[in-house]
Amino acid sequence: MTERCGYAAIVGRPNVGKSTLLNHLLGQKLSITSRKPQTTRHRLLGIKTEGDTQVIYVDTPGVHQRQHNAMNRYLNRAASSSLIGVDVVVWLVEALKWTSEDEQVLQLLTHHATEIPVILAVNKVDQVTDRERLLPFLSEIQEKFSFQEIFPISALRGSNLAELEKSVAKLVPEAAWFFPEDQWTDRSERFLVAEIVREKLIRRLGAELPYRLTVQVEHFANEDNLTHISAVIWVERDSQKGIVIGKQGKMLKQVGTDARQDIAVLLDRKIFLQLWVKVRAGWSDDERALRQLGYSDED
Ligand code: GDP
Ligand code: MG
Repeated sequence: MTERCGYAAIVGRPNVGKSTLLNHLLGQKLSITSRKPQTTRHRLLGIKTEGDTQVIYVDTPGVHQRQHNAMNRYLNRAASSSLIGVDVVVWLVEALKWTSEDEQVLQLLTHHATEIPVILAVNKVDQVTDRERLLPFLSEIQEKFSFQEIFPISALRGSNLAELEKSVAKLVPEAAWFFPEDQWTDRSERFLVAEIVREKLIRRLGAELPYRLTVQVEHFANEDNLTHISAVIWVERDSQKGIVIGKQGKMLKQVGTDARQDIAVLLDRKIFLQLWVKVRAGWSDDERALRQLGYSDED
């Protein structure tokens, strides 16, 4: 058997469905998702091995327009550097919706993906009621860029993903697999756990979510039939600490319950989860503090 192996970057503006697509392709929850843009902060690898081919998908944080602080600079570097060394780009746009952020991704690909085949995936077609409007939308985008192929998909419902995957697999070069057949991510269990807690906070807190909140797993111990985990939720101000904890600790308790359920499924074990909220002032404006929390450029 001749092995094939390569990298496929999933790019697109925030909220277009990149993480949803990756999770569906893997059949596992790797990348956290929400309605709120900028949910994904880290570059994540999702590995899918099928037949003779291993495709390593790279989920990227979106491109960010306002470059105010260290966090946004980090996210933008991560977005453009994610194209280095990839064999295929899967570019997601939303059906019938073209924004200035899509235009920015187009610029990024025009400058950085000149040698890389780009597949266009037009996502959220399940939301399109008037199918006839899809064709003119597709031909407009086709005038902007030369695509290898185009697929209307629904990442949420899983429609047309098998066709998309086949097309990606065809573009992956002959090479020995980089990862063992059963490995599906490069991330540690600790990292995935912290991300799940962050997702539950995003979902429960909605607009009240402190933008610069982050989660760090401090303790992770497997015992006989139970895994003990404690994690710190870092915020910047005492007032934010109050919001995260909620009245009589209610919010934090709900977040803990939500997170514990997902973590138990992910690790396939019983979980004891403790959450703490701590204040660290101004961390997202401080490159060094960012690195301490795991946002390094090597990410
Ligand atoms: P990302 O920022 O590009 O990673 O986007 P996410 O994967 O976090 O998705 C953003 C939002 O769009 C979430 O609320 C998803 O449930 C939703 N979404 C993603 N794909 C689809 C889809 O195919 N159809 C619909 N209706 N919603 C979707
Ligand atoms: Mg995402």
